[in-house]
Amino acid sequence: MGGRMTRLLYEIDPYLSKFDATVVRVQGEWVILDRTAFFPGGGGQENDTGWMGGLDVKSVKPQGEEVLHQVPGNTFRIGDKVDCEIDWERRYDLMRGHTGEHLLFAMISKLNPEIELVKIAITPTKKSLMVRGAVDWPIIIQAQEQVNDSIAAQLPVSDVWASKDSEVIANIRIKVDRIHGEKVRIVSIGDLDKAACAGVHIQNTRELKMLLVTKLTSARPVGDYDIEFETGRQAMKKAMRLSNISLQAAELVKAQPEHLVNALTNLKSELQVAQEAMRSYGKQALARLEPEKMQGVRLYSGIFEGLDKKTLVDSANELVKGDRTVAIIVSRDERLMLIVATSKDLDLDSREILADGLKVVEGKGGGGKNFASGGASQPQKAKEALGAAKDGLRARLPPP
Ligand SMILES: [Zn+2]
Repeated sequence: MGGRMTRLLYEIDPYLSKFDATVVRVQGEWVILDRTAFFPGGGGQENDTGWMGGLDVKSVKPQGEEVLHQVPGNTFRIGDKVDCEIDWERRYDLMRGHTGEHLLFAMISKLNPEIELVKIAITPTKKSLMVRGAVDWPIIIQAQEQVNDSIAAQLPVSDVWASKDSEVIANIRIKVDRIHGEKVRIVSIGDLDKAACAGVHIQNTRELKMLLVTKLTSARPVGDYDIEFETGRQAMKKAMRLSNISLQAAELVKAQPEHLVNALTNLKSELQVAQEAMRSYGKQALARLEPEKMQGVRLYSGIFEGLDKKTLVDSANELVKGDRTVAIIVSRDERLMLIVATSKDLDLDSREILADGLKVVEGKGGGGKNFASGGASQPQKAKEALGAAKDGLRARLPPP
């Protein structure tokens, strides 16, 4: 190898948070010590941060067999003794997350051995594993329950070193990217799971207190899934918050909480049926629109819901095919839409009538002389918009 080697104290004692060490080299901001408890990151777990000689350790990374600590503003010299401290709260959270990941994936792969582990992210803000294969909520829920049973069973987490070609490693989950040297560290959780991993772990599953899956989303490429989770107090708080939300939602739709997903699925399809009916009524009403007389022109006007823009635009254009005809159509859905069309023989500008209507709803729009349209965010003011546009038309027509 040739290079020097940092003694990795976190491999001997992952609970060591304070230590002293000797500076062996300084490369600008980066400090190399004879030994360190700072985990440089690996296996998806983010590196530690903390303090060295009273200065912030911003980042830590491996380089060959050494660990580099980023300590901005340091004036350390070779041979200096430095007191070091890891940001323990942050690190302990990452250790639990990491061990939780082992346990969760172990349970998922027991339920379906075809599911592969693709990527792991254990950071202060996100704990997740990306997997490839048929993952769905029923599997996740079952795995989560077994994980929490294992937490309650207080299983020991231990590790042993084995040489890369030893028989011991034949029967374990190998994560090739986690194996660097000739030797492999094998991390066992009770007799449930064995995995090759160089990361830092807790000693007993009880330290997790709880594991909660908080998100299951499909990821890229197609067939991959991102599973997010939380452990400990954060998991408990989130579980309580989510259970409260689902109780409220269940009450709102008058369903038992256990039947909430079914109830919402039913409501969703009822809504689709209702929207379809509304669209069909809207089309019929639009087709049966009767004109009113206004100062020598025929005016078609009305308020509609659930119709797409194309239907409305086509109808408005169709209505003004005759002479001396104006159409003012308002649609009221999530937004408000106003359409003004005028037959070509009239000395009227659709844009001006549109502007009159949109003024009262603070909308925006544009178009040409014979056709203009615009929208606004206040669908509840459809009547006002129609009234204002009609008033605008009246004012722009020659008096009777
Ligand atoms: Zn691990």
